[in-house]
Amino acid sequence: MPLDKEDENPRIPYQFAMPEDALPEIVIPNAIPEDDRMWVKQTENVYFRPLCLNVSQGYWVNLLKVTKSGVLSRHRHPNPVHGLVLKGRWHYLEHDWEATEGSYVFEPPGETHTLVVPDDVDEMITMFQVNGVMSYVDPYGKPMGYEDVFTKIDMCRKHFIEVGLGEDYVKQFIR
Ligand code: FE
Repeated sequence: MPLDKEDENPRIPYQFAMPEDALPEIVIPNAIPEDDRMWVKQTENVYFRPLCLNVSQGYWVNLLKVTKSGVLSRHRHPNPVHGLVLKGRWHYLEHDWEATEGSYVFEPPGETHTLVVPDDVDEMITMFQVNGVMSYVDPYGKPMGYEDVFTKIDMCRKHFIEVGLGEDYVKQFIR
């Protein structure tokens, strides 16, 4: 029994304002967009669709889309990552499991891995919440670059200018 006593008015909305300092919510009806301009190009055949770019807590939520089979960059996560596979499937060179359509994946802090989309998959889409940074590394852990919410915002801003939506378009995703 989660409630101390029964709610006598279950259909009456909360009667007060939200906290004055609370941020506005984000609602994105077509999270998997019909408009291709929503996909920000990351590298050849790799795109991301921003959903929430959180600058006060240092994380981002996005859809990752890979339109060709192959290997994505090897990277290390000092912070946790949550993933939900929406389309296609993929695996890591470092693990023997496969993330199939509908799978949820928790990547614990400390993971270093290399994402591979198998040959018979021509498109995969996965929602990722990435906390902190993604640090790109060579096979021996030597840093080769990084991404964080701020590099993501920069890429979005550039992209949205290029496709004619303007530099402010990214602001709707920033909290
Ligand atoms: Fe990862």
